[in-house]
Amino acid sequence: MKTILRGARAILPEGIRQTQVIIADQRILDVTDHADPAEGDRVIDADGLYLSPGFVDIHVHGGGGRSAMSGKAEDTVILANAHAQHGTTSILPTTLAAPIPTLLRAVEGIRRAARMPCDATILGAHLEGPCLSPAQSGAQSPDDLIIPAETDLSPLLDAWPRGIRMMGVAPELPGALELGDQLTRRGIVASIAHSNATYDQVLAALPHGYSDVTHLYSSCSGLIRIHSYRVPGVIEAGLNLDELTVQVIADGKHLPLSLLQLIYRCKGADKIELITDGLEFAAGELKEGTVYRQLNGMETVYEDGVMKLLSRESFAGSVATMHRCLRTMVSAGIPLVQAVRMASENPARRVGAARKGRIAPGMDADLVLMDEGLNIRMVFAMGRAIRDARDPGKQRTDPQ
Ligand SMILES: [Zn+2]
Repeated sequence: MKTILRGARAILPEGIRQTQVIIADQRILDVTDHADPAEGDRVIDADGLYLSPGFVDIHVHGGGGRSAMSGKAEDTVILANAHAQHGTTSILPTTLAAPIPTLLRAVEGIRRAARMPCDATILGAHLEGPCLSPAQSGAQSPDDLIIPAETDLSPLLDAWPRGIRMMGVAPELPGALELGDQLTRRGIVASIAHSNATYDQVLAALPHGYSDVTHLYSSCSGLIRIHSYRVPGVIEAGLNLDELTVQVIADGKHLPLSLLQLIYRCKGADKIELITDGLEFAAGELKEGTVYRQLNGMETVYEDGVMKLLSRESFAGSVATMHRCLRTMVSAGIPLVQAVRMASENPARRVGAARKGRIAPGMDADLVLMDEGLNIRMVFAMGRAIRDARDPGKQRTDPQ
């Protein structure tokens, strides 16, 4: 039996085209102008609706009240399901700085979750830290930061061969260049994260495999002046160097629209990965002004649509969904086709998820139907409808 999405305005890499998309056996069978349904085929009238590839979030710590740090596979499934309701059909659960035994338990939990029934595909694990700069720790627990030269990370890196897809490291730390080489040998993307590096230190890290910047502008060094001389940092390197892709928290709070526009101007549509950096409180209901304690003990407050440290000195991860990030980019004036690419194709490619992120024959049938206002009407994960809000009685408005 096939499912035919009829008349959808499919958001394809080359542009938006009204077409029929045929799904069978969890895959996209065809994208065609003519589709004749056979007996028993399901036809969905998607006339006038946008059809986007399912979103791919490669930097997300939690959602639906659960965190990937708990080490419990069930928690990772719950958080993935929570994000899937908002169109994120592929997810790379992300750890926070913590002692190595805690990280090993977290990776094991994510690994077991990847084999359990789940609405979203769990692509692997992303280690954000623990080799991060104390000068740019942000909401990461400062007590759990380590120096790569002083710790054997092999047990952690070997914990899930080909499952650990990305690691965030501050490349200026002693031993970080060797760590970059190790990551590259294992096929793990080395991302410059929570780093106080100068531009020159970033340049020195490139031959050691560093090819991405974690949440550009957030916990990144920027331009400083030493006597008469200006010294650029990770922000300027991320913007200027073609060798680097950049992760961008596009919740509309971490970065104002003007900076999202600047990043787009510098990097173009192919080198930006939208991320949520969502914490356990993402994709759920939250009360303004409420204090929440993270699993790592950091106290955070929900204010103005975002989580902050209690001191209000720093954001503490977002509560966004990728759908909100997409809408933020569109509101910044980025064309829909390009914004969708940053929410799906780019992150999928970045972590080597070859069957994710595009609407094309042979790709996994992960799809999001949205109306003109970019409200989600339906979500398909591996060909299965996991959300259907087409019935006006059941419609809900997605939070901005
Ligand atoms: Zn993060």
